[in-house]
Amino acid sequence: MHEQSDKSYRELANEALGDERLHSAIRMIQDRIGKGTRHLWKTEISQELRDKAKKARMRTLDNLDKVLTTLTEKIRANGGHVYFAKTAEDARNYCLKVAQKNEVKRVVKGKSMTSAEIGVDHLLEAHDIEVVETDLGEFIIQLAHDAPSHIIAPCIHMDKQQIGRLFEKELGIPYSEDPPTLTKAARKALREKLLSADMGISGCNLACAETGHISLVSNEGNIRMSTTMPKVHVALMGMERVIATLAEHDMLLRLLTRGAAAQKISTYVSFLGGPRQPGEPDGPEEFHLVIIDNGRMKMLADPRFREVLSCIRCGSCLNICPVYGRIGGHAYNAPYPGPIGAVVMPLFNGVNKHADLCRGESLCGACKDICPVNNDLPRMLSELRHMLAYGDEQWDVAPVDKGEALAFKGWYAAMSSRTAYNLLVKTGRLAQAPFVSDGMLKKGIGPLGKWTADRDFPPIARQTFGERWKTVHAPRLKGDSNE
Ligand code: SF4
Repeated sequence: MHEQSDKSYRELANEALGDERLHSAIRMIQDRIGKGTRHLWKTEISQELRDKAKKARMRTLDNLDKVLTTLTEKIRANGGHVYFAKTAEDARNYCLKVAQKNEVKRVVKGKSMTSAEIGVDHLLEAHDIEVVETDLGEFIIQLAHDAPSHIIAPCIHMDKQQIGRLFEKELGIPYSEDPPTLTKAARKALREKLLSADMGISGCNLACAETGHISLVSNEGNIRMSTTMPKVHVALMGMERVIATLAEHDMLLRLLTRGAAAQKISTYVSFLGGPRQPGEPDGPEEFHLVIIDNGRMKMLADPRFREVLSCIRCGSCLNICPVYGRIGGHAYNAPYPGPIGAVVMPLFNGVNKHADLCRGESLCGACKDICPVNNDLPRMLSELRHMLAYGDEQWDVAPVDKGEALAFKGWYAAMSSRTAYNLLVKTGRLAQAPFVSDGMLKKGIGPLGKWTADRDFPPIARQTFGERWKTVHAPRLKGDSNE
């Protein structure tokens, strides 16, 4: 069960800023995987391929109704069930219904961000159904009653000493901080659960309409076991994860594994599209694909945010983001952390509710540069901030940054008129005098106070460029022209 915190983004971010152990853990993933992905983009994957992948994603989104219909028909023809869930609640209830119909007592899960998004674990557990995470990182998080902090590496915030103590307490093994020993202990505990589970729940990395299959990537083999050993398999899929053709699917798979783990291919890639067929040695008796909207249609309908649905949830934007590098994933306090979370969480759950997420990112552009499908997250973050300043009826956003909006309106007016600009500079220079020390503005007032609480600000110069020009160069030039 994933535990979210009651604390605010600011409180959690402030705590994380002082956590050196967290910083060094994130540095490890950013140095190894983030740099590895960038290297692959430079040496092996051309920008043309990434552009092509983006076009394919956007083309599918433009024809999403048709592509999903094809996928559905293929899966149903293969004996699978497809359910369209309008809301997270619909998706949760469907999973419960399937579990109850099959008298399920234990569910094993392959790693799925979508399951965290819809919160299915809580509902199943409330109906006395045991839910066991089988991805090693998610299993550790579940034992610790913690929340994941990275899309791909959910327990990156924990070190081997913490995991050793956790396993000693929860699994009853002697304390060890040797990773192979800990992995072996987890494998033993999980194998017992996997062998006796009645139902498996997985996510869906990609789905291909042309062939009617979903694909899942992992490096642990747990997904293959959770999806083929229990008698029922339920796959949860955000409605945007589909792609039209097999050729496009393969192109995205190449980008996904390189973006997620700087790997040319994951150790396990599973293609699944229905229940076990006659004569097949394994596979579930029932296969259900739950295609989830939960606000995605609204994003699709808005040209400002349609692009975010091209995301393939590789997690590379986290592996490069300087803000994530300092505050980690828990500060986002949401199923999707990092730059992608800062865009989608406000759109899923309310822009006002998650205002701090979109204001917390630095807009440096690193996430866009590394994204395999060139998602322009900084542009979308700016759109969200614009909503917060001016309000937005379509997304039901109340303006909260009224002071900022007013300041920018004033700034715009001043920058549009020479006279107003000169007046602003002169009055500002006089007004700032009590706040300047050692040549820097150290204590601002109003909205500027938030900036100067953590940083110094350069004061308005004693002479602006225009004033210097008038006093130094203009008379000289005038003299020159008289010669
Ligand atoms: S926005 Fe791009 S980099 Fe970030 S998770 Fe999505 S696809 Fe990956």
